Amino acid sequence: MDDPPCLICHSARQRIHTIPVADLVVQYRRQLGLEVAAEFGNLRHLQIARCPRCDFISFVPSVIGTEQFYDGLQGHAWYYLADKAEFATARRFLRPGNRVLDVGCGSGAFAQGHPVENYLGLEYTAGAIAMAEARGLSVRRQGVEAYAASRPEPHDMVCAFQVLEHVADQRAFIAACTEVCRPGGRVIFSTPNADCFANAACNLVLNFPPHHTAWFSRRFWLGLPGYFPLRLVEIIEEPLEPVHLPFYANTLVQASLEKWLGLRSPAPIDVSLRHRILAKFSRGLGGILARGLVDERLRPKGQAITAVYERC
Ligand SMILES: [Zn+2]
Repeated sequence: MDDPPCLICHSARQRIHTIPVADLVVQYRRQLGLEVAAEFGNLRHLQIARCPRCDFISFVPSVIGTEQFYDGLQGHAWYYLADKAEFATARRFLRPGNRVLDVGCGSGAFAQGHPVENYLGLEYTAGAIAMAEARGLSVRRQGVEAYAASRPEPHDMVCAFQVLEHVADQRAFIAACTEVCRPGGRVIFSTPNADCFANAACNLVLNFPPHHTAWFSRRFWLGLPGYFPLRLVEIIEEPLEPVHLPFYANTLVQASLEKWLGLRSPAPIDVSLRHRILAKFSRGLGGILARGLVDERLRPKGQAITAVYERC
């Protein structure tokens, strides 16, 4: 059976990797203590497919995390901690009095400093909604597609920070965000950056289903106005956060060791003993190397990319 065409531009896609679901299950258990087998039903393998035309990269078939999966993740204190670097980026485009729609608003951290009467959040997670409401913010438990279908008064700014990589239908999501923005207003998306070194790292399990459903590159964001009524204003690739320097250094050391030993480059998910031994060794050397990355010019781009558009 042929793969479904690209969700964004409808071109035929290329399969770039096959991932055994059993390996993902092992990695979620090892790294996070989460049992995710039930999230995949009877699926044995997942494909990663890339569209050569628009560079949309997604998993086939699409597997979305259940509420139970996200409940498990929230048990890890770091999951909702992130005061995201892209908030500062987006605030540069915010004007006094702007009516903001924050899609997947979490605890509403982006609204800080903005008049609450001009802010509306959309969110599914009960715990996050409670935190946002405690800040005095209005939040609806609704997806942006359903919100757009209610034909609301258009917003001056529509933003979705680190949401698109979790949804099932990216085309419908982007179309709805665009629809509820007034012409001349700003539509802002941030996602993990598929061009970041982290996408070359092995076993970055949260970058896979059921957590992430798709990956987004700079080329994808550059081309997006070809498919939606948007004009590109700016693309910002966030610098690597100092807290992630050891991760970068470990990845670099491990890749160097594999090359030096003449090993085949590993699969995106690798549960082998050989990989575990190399990873342990790399962490030692990587820890030393990370201390040398003191100058920003020595650091690569970070894990978040933000794309700012004007609604046509
Ligand atoms: Zn495409």
